[in-house]
Amino acid sequence: MALDSEGRYYHIRRLEAAAPVVAAFTTRRGGVSRGHLAQCNLGLAVGDDPEAVLANRRLALDGVGLPLASVVAAEQVHGDRVARVGRGEAGRGATARETAIPGVDALITDEAGLTLMIGCADCVPVYLLAPERPAIGLAHAGWRGTVGRIAAKTVRAMTEAFGSRPEAMLAAVGPSIGPCCYEVDEPVAGPVRRAFGQAADGLLIPQDRPDRWRLDLWEANRLTLLGAGLRPENIGVAGLCTACHQDRFFSHRASDGRAGRMAALLALRPEGGSGAGAGPSTSP
Ligand SMILES: [Zn+2]
Repeated sequence: MALDSEGRYYHIRRLEAAAPVVAAFTTRRGGVSRGHLAQCNLGLAVGDDPEAVLANRRLALDGVGLPLASVVAAEQVHGDRVARVGRGEAGRGATARETAIPGVDALITDEAGLTLMIGCADCVPVYLLAPERPAIGLAHAGWRGTVGRIAAKTVRAMTEAFGSRPEAMLAAVGPSIGPCCYEVDEPVAGPVRRAFGQAADGLLIPQDRPDRWRLDLWEANRLTLLGAGLRPENIGVAGLCTACHQDRFFSHRASDGRAGRMAALLALRPEGGSGAGAGPSTSP
């Protein structure tokens, strides 16, 4: 993961080098929101002025060369469902929550000019790229989505829809709350043990207090991707904790739920295009 020169975005260079894609994660820098949502809150459901959020979204998308009208957002219900989207869905969830793709936490497409977007403030964004016949997937994995193996379900959906081969796919686990900060109790640890069996011993780090653990969502999602058939060398983990770096990130945990949202953005660029815009080129 590389931070751009103004500190506004992380780019996942490995994915961007493998195919004509934009794979980015926004930071809280570079927007117009104020107070605890300063500066670049992209969430429409966190009590921010909607005009400010839309201005932030335009700024954020402009900054990576993607039009806001190309965005497709998932509703994000902490479930494990995946939707295939195409140009017919362009703009869904871009400027209003109500139009987001309902009931899903992951999106896949093989169409260029469409920007998959997931809002995050601690939850894990999982980026997927099948470079051979370019197709992309983006999943939102909080603890529930992680226990539901949404990353593997997204891999499977890409295989079924596009013929993507897991052994050729690249994945990235983006910035999110790390094992350094994500303390959980039995209502979370129990489902993690049931979902991961023996491997849960390595995912739940015991704390001084009884019935308290720190949960490693990054490793849980890495294991899930390995289980889905990805090669270890093709899975990158950003290792950036949102709760540790509040100068750069919003963190739900670190701000007692009063956090703005960053966005994971993933788009296939049109052939020969520098951005995902479908409009006429104005440059020579
Ligand atoms: Zn941390």
